[in-house]
Amino acid sequence: MKIVHAAAELYPYVKTGGLADAVGALSAALAEHGHEVSVFLPGYRAALEHKDAANAERKLRLKIEMGDQFLSGDVRVFSPRKNLKVYLICREEYFDRRAPYGNGERDYEDNADRFIFFCKGVVETLRLADLQADIVHGHDWQAALLPLLLREAERRHSLTLALKTVFTIHNIAYQGLFPATAFARTNLPDELFNIDGLEYYSQVNFLKGGILFADRLTTVSPRYAKEIQTPEFGCGLDGVALTRADDIVGLLNGVDTSIWNPAVDGVLPARYSPANMAGKQTCRTKLLKRCGFAAGFGGPIFGMICRFTEQKGLDLVIANREFFTGQDCRLIVLGAGDQRIEDELRALATEAPQKISLSARLDETMSHLIEAGCDFFLMPSLFEPCGLNQMYSQVYGTVPVVSRVGGLVDTVIDVGEQPDTGTGIMCEPNAGSLRAAMERALVLFADKPRYAAVQQRCMARDFGWKTAATGYEQLYQESL
Ligand code: ADP
Repeated sequence: MKIVHAAAELYPYVKTGGLADAVGALSAALAEHGHEVSVFLPGYRAALEHKDAANAERKLRLKIEMGDQFLSGDVRVFSPRKNLKVYLICREEYFDRRAPYGNGERDYEDNADRFIFFCKGVVETLRLADLQADIVHGHDWQAALLPLLLREAERRHSLTLALKTVFTIHNIAYQGLFPATAFARTNLPDELFNIDGLEYYSQVNFLKGGILFADRLTTVSPRYAKEIQTPEFGCGLDGVALTRADDIVGLLNGVDTSIWNPAVDGVLPARYSPANMAGKQTCRTKLLKRCGFAAGFGGPIFGMICRFTEQKGLDLVIANREFFTGQDCRLIVLGAGDQRIEDELRALATEAPQKISLSARLDETMSHLIEAGCDFFLMPSLFEPCGLNQMYSQVYGTVPVVSRVGGLVDTVIDVGEQPDTGTGIMCEPNAGSLRAAMERALVLFADKPRYAAVQQRCMARDFGWKTAATGYEQLYQESL
């Protein structure tokens, strides 16, 4: 099949979260299965500066209609591996910036224009380069206008640009909600600005367009597919999602085992496997040292890696400060984002520097070291579309402590409920329940043979992308 993906992030070029990992791994897996895969990405500075893009071919010049203006851009293409091409939709004014969505404090004010331009750039490239896609697959709100813009361009030019469209919701909390004035920039027919179209309480909602107009929809875990159809998790779009209930399927993200695998992980000071866990101890020692803790500490280490946003349940961790200061354990947090959360975590780390470590930055190397060097991985998310780190942690023999939501339910088995097959500890997304879960973790850790058995079961799980990629292939084939 000729498969076109469009997304705002793609590992290893631009990443703020799991979206980049998922699109990177899925496109690579599909290419490996022999499909012809193209991934469209905005031509961010970071992508253009990446070594893979050094010899990118300048493929097309674009003139994109944006309301009553025409804006120019260009398309650059490179091929990082067999069967895979990356198309960068470039316009310096929009994408030559340090970060993809905002300056750290707030989102860029022209995000509506930036991603309308991006989607239109994808459509124009499909048309001008005659890519003849079987499937056009958009991801999240930044690519959610694609199905509509594609069909509109097909109508205008009387041709077929894609046989079918697929849209994946990686996180329904981010919708691309903009003032009504943004609608004119889409050049879509006025009748699409109503309750059955892009309008959402007098604003424009990009994500709603993806949910309503793609031929097929997916979420990144089966549980999340159900959850988004409920008021509790639908973030105001549950009613819209319900209208597509028959077309939504949950396909669990996988782990890219060429990057996340303790047996071959070149970032770690030592490698290890279920048969020989000695390397994990070396990672632990290095992690403790790096965090300024005594290297010989033998108690449980809790790790956490995430964007600092309410979703990730950091407030529940902060509310449990007495647990971390009172118990003989360590807490190591890596992340970046919301300043309030960072400040509160910093206060905690300053209060107990001998027990709590905060690294407020993006740090790929440190993230591998935490996955490898900790004993427990904390992920008390309030909601979680899929979540990757709880899978990475199991692959690294680090027992996850997670809340009972979304993809966490699909990927972790509670060891209290299933003593013979359990791989982690689950709680409800509140501070009291998290505390009880962490206390269970201490008890488990003290029982060395039992803890080791849980670790072995974690590492024996298969989270490879093969299953997910096959799921997407089936979905494409069915829809065609
Ligand atoms: P989300 O997509 O909601 O951010 P996921 O768990 O699906 O959550 O994916 C998060 C990804 O981002 C993981 O690969 C995680 O390791 C990575 N990550 C998050 N914060 C950081 C950070 N500060 N440094 C390095 N990697 C990070």
